[in-house]
Amino acid sequence: MDLQQVYKELEKENVDIHTKYSYSHRHKTKGYIKRLSLGRIWFNLLLPDDYPLVDEPVTKKVLNKIIRDIVEKYDTETVADILTNIQREAFKLSSIVPVSLDEEHLILPDDIEEKRKKLLKDEDDPIEFQKKTYEITKEYLDRLKEQDSPIVSIIESGAKSSVADMANLMIARGSTVDIKGEISKPIRQSLNDGLDGESYYLSAKESRRALFIRSQFTAEPGYLARKVTFANANIELGGNDCKTTKYLELRVTEDLKDCLIGRYYVDERGKLKEITEDSDIIGKRIKLRSPLYCKEPNDNICKICYGKLADKLKDKNIGILAGSVINTEGIEGFSMKVRHKATQVNFKPVDLKKDLIESSIRKSEIEKFLDIRTNEIICKYDCTIFIDRRDYREGELDEFAEYFIVPGILSVEFPEQETTIPLVYNYSVKVLKSTNVEETERVVAIHYSAGDKIIEQDIVSTDTDMRLIIRLLDGKIKYIKDPLVLLLMIHDQLPKIALVHLEVIVSNMFRCAEDPKIKCRYKGSYKNSIILGQVDQPFVDSWLTSMAFERIKKAIKSALIYETGIKNNSLEKLMKLEFD
Ligand SMILES: [Zn+2]
Repeated sequence: MDLQQVYKELEKENVDIHTKYSYSHRHKTKGYIKRLSLGRIWFNLLLPDDYPLVDEPVTKKVLNKIIRDIVEKYDTETVADILTNIQREAFKLSSIVPVSLDEEHLILPDDIEEKRKKLLKDEDDPIEFQKKTYEITKEYLDRLKEQDSPIVSIIESGAKSSVADMANLMIARGSTVDIKGEISKPIRQSLNDGLDGESYYLSAKESRRALFIRSQFTAEPGYLARKVTFANANIELGGNDCKTTKYLELRVTEDLKDCLIGRYYVDERGKLKEITEDSDIIGKRIKLRSPLYCKEPNDNICKICYGKLADKLKDKNIGILAGSVINTEGIEGFSMKVRHKATQVNFKPVDLKKDLIESSIRKSEIEKFLDIRTNEIICKYDCTIFIDRRDYREGELDEFAEYFIVPGILSVEFPEQETTIPLVYNYSVKVLKSTNVEETERVVAIHYSAGDKIIEQDIVSTDTDMRLIIRLLDGKIKYIKDPLVLLLMIHDQLPKIALVHLEVIVSNMFRCAEDPKIKCRYKGSYKNSIILGQVDQPFVDSWLTSMAFERIKKAIKSALIYETGIKNNSLEKLMKLEFD
């Protein structure tokens, strides 16, 4: 059977997608006849002759795996041909057998409708409400699946839509989040029902948030990617193996593993191993070779610390690559998603104890000064929280009569004990005002007495927070002393990006406090470090880049007074119109 025959079969009226056809192939079925559905025969025909038979539902995840495999096995031009072919034929197929939703999907079966009314009637807790909504949605989708509804395949394949979208459409809207991050009480109607007056206004809060994000963060992410590119342009691939004996020690989760394919780690016997799809490392702590500890001189990262991707690259500019990956994978993906996403938010209950303590290297110290409970923090001694308005850009810090909403990182000062405790978390919290608040134009000082509650937060949205990504990469995070904490915080927000790109960026941010020109990775230790954000790095590294960047006055000063050198990296050659 060839492609034309497949299309001819599909064009017949009343074609049943479950009908099996005979398929045999010299390599794929070793000449034997196999009974496969038309869809599977179609997909296998798109893959190269020597590629093994694919006999499982091809979801987005499976397709990604196959593409990764193809990229590994074939040369660049063949890969481009294969992928173009898959795309062209997929478009063609979707015009022959289009998959869509029809109106009968918009009528809930009576028993599910009953259940919906009963389950959701008295539930007021946003998280419980969402849980119940999803349960009913799944039941409804199972029902549709029995009826062979195409909408289920669309969702299960990962092509479009989700259980959350279907819940929104058919079961109930649930809670919404407004600009300030406040979570509303659940909306009991679905979009299919239509909204009553109150629900309409609750829903509008969410729309305003989406409009705000769109206006505020459409230009911003592109600019951030540009900053990352400029700041990291000096970093190049070079050297085969720096033989460093310092490793990035990581506990590998399932999601994290996907971001580590092709990297090297050392096992218990000190042997170098590559991480592949089949590596059994989930749940284990591994010692990863990483750009964060690469000793290769002159801003180079060696091939072992960088990982297998090094062999595929035709260009040595891995710093510029990291910038463009941030742009395409993370940022564009994010701003496009915010624009098109149906307004279903995901929440999680806050667990300050877990979120703060586990990510901190100063665990015992934190517990000595603060009583950290699941969703509130109480101070054990008199203390002050300083909020420096200059650290936050417009829209980042919200003030209310009784509290501030503060994103990301805070420091609590204990003057009598001469200690400052940094609190690092991946969301915004309410910082409660005390009766003693001092305020200058820029800095707010909130003084607390021992036993006061200083922070509280119950639920947070788990959607990507662009503001936090920008804060992290701009280096407004001076209290983080462990590169792994910063790395995982960025990874949390951009979970699809291969970790190596983030490691390249983070390794460039940590500098020695005595001399910021020196990167901590050259010392093999991150003690006594400071963090330089993307905007600050060029002023230390190269005056030419800083001149092409922003804050031109400061750039001139750093060129004339401090005589910062230049690096002659690819971007700078371009600026000077010098080409290899
Ligand atoms: Zn290295």
